[in-house]
Amino acid sequence: MEFFNFDKRLLKNAEIAENMCKDAFARIDEITDYNMQKVLNAFIECRVSDSHFKGTTGYGYSDMGRDKLEEVFAKSFGGEDALVRHSFASGTHTIATVLYGILRPNDKAVCVTGTPYDTLHEVVWGKGKGSLEDFGIDFSVVDLDNDGNIDITNAEKAVFDKNVKMIYFQRSRGYSLRPSFSVEYLAEVIELLKKANPDACIVVDNCYGEFCERLEPVQAGADIIVGSLIKNPGGGIAKNGGYIVGRADLIEQCAYRLTTPSTGKEVGASLNELREMFLGLFNAPMAVCGALKTAVFASALFESFGYKAYPRYNESRADIINAIELGGEKELIAFCRGIQAGSPIDSFAYPEPWEMPGYDSKVIMAAGAFTMGASIELSADAPLREPFAVWLQGGLNYPSGKVGILKAAQTMSDEGLLKLD
Ligand SMILES: *Cc1c(COP(=O)(O)O)cnc(C)c1O
Repeated sequence: MEFFNFDKRLLKNAEIAENMCKDAFARIDEITDYNMQKVLNAFIECRVSDSHFKGTTGYGYSDMGRDKLEEVFAKSFGGEDALVRHSFASGTHTIATVLYGILRPNDKAVCVTGTPYDTLHEVVWGKGKGSLEDFGIDFSVVDLDNDGNIDITNAEKAVFDKNVKMIYFQRSRGYSLRPSFSVEYLAEVIELLKKANPDACIVVDNCYGEFCERLEPVQAGADIIVGSLIKNPGGGIAKNGGYIVGRADLIEQCAYRLTTPSTGKEVGASLNELREMFLGLFNAPMAVCGALKTAVFASALFESFGYKAYPRYNESRADIINAIELGGEKELIAFCRGIQAGSPIDSFAYPEPWEMPGYDSKVIMAAGAFTMGASIELSADAPLREPFAVWLQGGLNYPSGKVGILKAAQTMSDEGLLKLD
């Protein structure tokens, strides 16, 4: 650590924390090994060649590279087919394409993992903007139980209705303190809910979950998984975009929504984006490995200072997010400023809390990323309100992620908010 002036006592703590992480790191390495081989095998079986990097313009008919990329995504995630496009503006746009692609007026959808991610609220319930509700589609929510698990009894009741055409899950904790759901757990719940309603399709918002475990939810009974390429599966290299993987008939419906019912998957020029989307997928298991280890290290270090981390350093993980309860505004601000100062891009920027639209308190954010808003790169967000927790995620590789976490601790210590001994 000769390039950074970290306090010797902090480095001692870091060494202890890193020792605590050994078992968790070994588990992550095993998963990475498996997933890296899985993705490499998909590239080999699909016979990817450099000719597939050559994009198309205009309508994008006969875009061989685009079709090949979708084949590799489908194979890597264990689904029948995929829709992978840089023209998805965000994860929210990709999820909305699934909802609008599959649901029709008078259909019902039930989200069984509590209130979905914030940016979806307007998509499903907004007034006058063309939300699901505007189109007469009922999207209801079954709250989680007191332990943060799926309330099976109420979920079964809610989906036992022939008008329910979709059962929706969010795998990641998002910005809450509930646990993220493992693929194994999702498989059990999916099996039960399919008994209550065999006709409904199962959709999983897989954001932040890709490559955290050996299997993806489509291999555990989900019909569709969906996510963003500026998170895990873009590997820190794809510049934007989203993916949908799963049942071929449903992917087709989503494609009719993304483009038009007369063109579907056949159009959508890939322009110059293919090489980075291929390379990003290939790098994704390693990037997720870096992010998971960074999160585990952050938990161990801050637990050693007496803070509560969710999940704990030794708990299993189904997403790359880690929350740490720091207990006060000043702590959150110092932590985020430290993360920013340890970023490769905009390290000199000084984050300030601001009134972010859609939040009922000020929020401070740290992001010094190669791709704007990419949260597979080390980043942190903290709403300045109870429970005074910071949510951090990402880290393209562990050595740089570790520096970011140490910068956060050092900044807190410099401001007298953390006592080192
Ligand atoms: C990030 C995220 C989304 C939305 O993706 P955006 O790219 O921010 O629009 C949806 N659900 C979950 C769980 C997410 O983490």
